Amino acid sequence: KIRTRIAPSPTGFLHLGTARTALYSWAYARHHGGEFVLRIEDTDVARSTQESTDQILASMHWLGLEYDEGPIYQMQRLARYQEVIAQMIAEGKAYHCYCTPEDLEAMREAQRARGEKTLYDRRWRPEPGKVLPPVPQGVPPVVRFCNPVEGDVTWDDLVKGPITINNREIDDLIIQRPDGVPTYNFAVVVDDWDMAISHVFRGDEHINNTPWQINIFNALGAPLPQFGHVPVILGDDGQKLSKRRGAVSVTAYEENGYLPEAMLNYLARLGWSHGDDELFSREQLVQWFDGTHLSKSPAQWDAAKLSWVNAHYIKQMDNAALAQLVSAQLKKRGIESDARLPDICALFKDRCDTTVALANWAAGFYADVAASDADRAQHLTESIRPAVAALADKLSAVANWDKVSIAAAIKEVLASQGLKMPALAMPVRVLVLGTPQTPSLDAVLALFSRETILARLSKS
Ligand code: GLU
Repeated sequence: KIRTRIAPSPTGFLHLGTARTALYSWAYARHHGGEFVLRIEDTDVARSTQESTDQILASMHWLGLEYDEGPIYQMQRLARYQEVIAQMIAEGKAYHCYCTPEDLEAMREAQRARGEKTLYDRRWRPEPGKVLPPVPQGVPPVVRFCNPVEGDVTWDDLVKGPITINNREIDDLIIQRPDGVPTYNFAVVVDDWDMAISHVFRGDEHINNTPWQINIFNALGAPLPQFGHVPVILGDDGQKLSKRRGAVSVTAYEENGYLPEAMLNYLARLGWSHGDDELFSREQLVQWFDGTHLSKSPAQWDAAKLSWVNAHYIKQMDNAALAQLVSAQLKKRGIESDARLPDICALFKDRCDTTVALANWAAGFYADVAASDADRAQHLTESIRPAVAALADKLSAVANWDKVSIAAAIKEVLASQGLKMPALAMPVRVLVLGTPQTPSLDAVLALFSRETILARLSKS
C-alpha cells in the first residue's frame, strides 16, 4: 500500500518548501489510491509552539491537502521511542555515551589538529575485549546508535537517482538526548516504520541524514521506504528562499490575496513538470503525478509567474465565491461590503492578479478615494469642468439608473460638448475611482448609486 507523509516541525509557519513536499506526498498518495499522513515533529520542545502547529494545520487545510491520518504528535509517542531504544540497548545496537560537551570538543580539536574529519570516536561503544571508561558521576548519558563501521549505504533516490555513502563517513549518531527525548533521525525512523510509510518525499537538506536513517531501519529489521529528495527552492536572486528575502510562508500568500488553487498549481510546477502544461487542476495533478519528472536541480521562485497563475484562477473563479474572499479582505480594512460585490468582482477581476488588488478596486465603491495630485492635475483641467458638470446634470435626470441609460447620457454629453470618450471618461474616472484607468465607464457608474456619483462628480 502506498503511504506517504509530511512531517513539519512546528517551529514556524508552513514554509513554501515544506508545502511543496507536502503537495508531492499528497498527490503521490492520491495518484496511487494510497494514504497520506500528517505528523507534527515537535521534539524540539524549546522551539515548537502551539501557534505554529495551528498555522501549519490551517495552511494544509487552505491548500486542500487533506490527510487520512493525523496530526500525529511525536511528543505523544515518547514511550514508544524509549521502548525501541531500550530494546536496541539490550540487543547491543545502541549504547550510553557519557561524553560531556567539553570531551567532545577536545576530541574534535585533536581530530582537526591531525587533519581528520571530526567524527565521534566511539569511545563509549561496547566492543568485545574493549574496556570502557569509568562511568562519570552526574553526567546524564545520551544514547548513541551503533552505526556499521564498514560497508556502504546505498539507495536509489526517486529524485536524485542512486546515492552511495561509505559508513566510514558517518559516526555513531545520538538517538536520545540526556532528557530522554529522541533526536530527529531516530524518531523519524520509528515513525515511518510504525506508520508504514512507503515513500518519503522531503527536502534535499535531509540527504545527509538518510544514510543514518537507513542504517537504523536495517538495525530495527524494518522495511525501507523509498526516498525522494526534492531540491531546494531558490529566491529570484538565486539564493535560498528565506524570510529575509520576502514571503516564505503559505499564510503570507493567503493574506496577500493568492488563491489556494493557484498556489497548488504554481508550487507543483516548481520542481516538477508534465510536458508543457503550466496550468492544471488539482484533479489533473493527481492524475499525472506519479513521482517521475521531478527536477534534480533547484527551482527558482518566480513571483511574476505566480501572479500570472493567480490572475488566471481569479479570472476563472465564480463571482460570488470571489466576492466572499474580497469581502474578507475588505473587512480587514474596516469596510463592510454589500450585494454589489459579486458584480464589482465580475467587472474588475480581469485586471487583478490578487484578491488584494481586487479589494483595492472594490474599496472605492464603499469609501471615497482620493486621486493622486498628478492625476488630478493632468485630467481635471479647467476646460473639462463644464463637460463634467453637464454629465452630472444629465445623470441627475435619467429615469432609470442603469447601464443603458447611463451610456445614453454619456453619449449625449459627448455630442453636445464636442468631445471624444477618453476626454470625458478620464476625468470622470479620476473623480469616481481615483484613477483614469477603469473598466467601461457606464458599467462602473451603474454599480454606484446615483447619489454617490453626483456627490463625487461635484468634487471636480
Ligand atoms: N521535521 C523534518 C523537517 O521539517 C521532517 C523531515 C522529513 O520529512 O523526514 O524538515
